[in-house]
Amino acid sequence: MAVMECPECQGKVSDTADACPHCGYSFAAEAERYKQEVKGYQKAEQADRNKAICVVLLALVVAGAFWLRTSSGKDFVKDYRKYGPFGEVERRDAMNKKRESKLTADVRYSPTKFIITNQDGFDWTSVELEINSVGLKSGYILKVGRISAGQTCTVQKVEFAKPDGTRFNPIAVKALNFSVLADTPNGKAASAWKLE
Ligand SMILES: [Zn+2]
Repeated sequence: MAVMECPECQGKVSDTADACPHCGYSFAAEAERYKQEVKGYQKAEQADRNKAICVVLLALVVAGAFWLRTSSGKDFVKDYRKYGPFGEVERRDAMNKKRESKLTADVRYSPTKFIITNQDGFDWTSVELEINSVGLKSGYILKVGRISAGQTCTVQKVEFAKPDGTRFNPIAVKALNFSVLADTPNGKAASAWKLE
């Protein structure tokens, strides 16, 4: 048993006593007051932590808003609205279309030939015609050089050949699509037609 000093009357008091025997000062009440004080500090600390979390979240929201104002952010939002979360393939397709400007042409065909008319107001140069183009795999190609503005060009289907030299055989192979690739004053351009 230790002896301590009463904080009120400075009299000697046993440290196991609930109250001071000299002045009646209650140590239990003092302990309870101290407990409440500690609780108050803890509450204040928690409030400070919450404030810090709020500041961090607000900073993230502001950063996100700035990102959306940038061009890539805008494009993303536009594409997302248009194609949804799984539209990556369509999006790439749309970008490809944008890269290749179209040629304006009239294309007619018979079982043995194609008749192409350049309906653009400019000449096509380094013109490459292709039958049955499938993505990056080459179809049957025919290089015809230049087709001037308004000019009509007639080509035989048997003139077309694969890069390995295989000739297009109009009797054995069905022409499913026809495409024209050319240099124009505005750069490379291409157009494709699906054949019935
Ligand atoms: Zn006392």
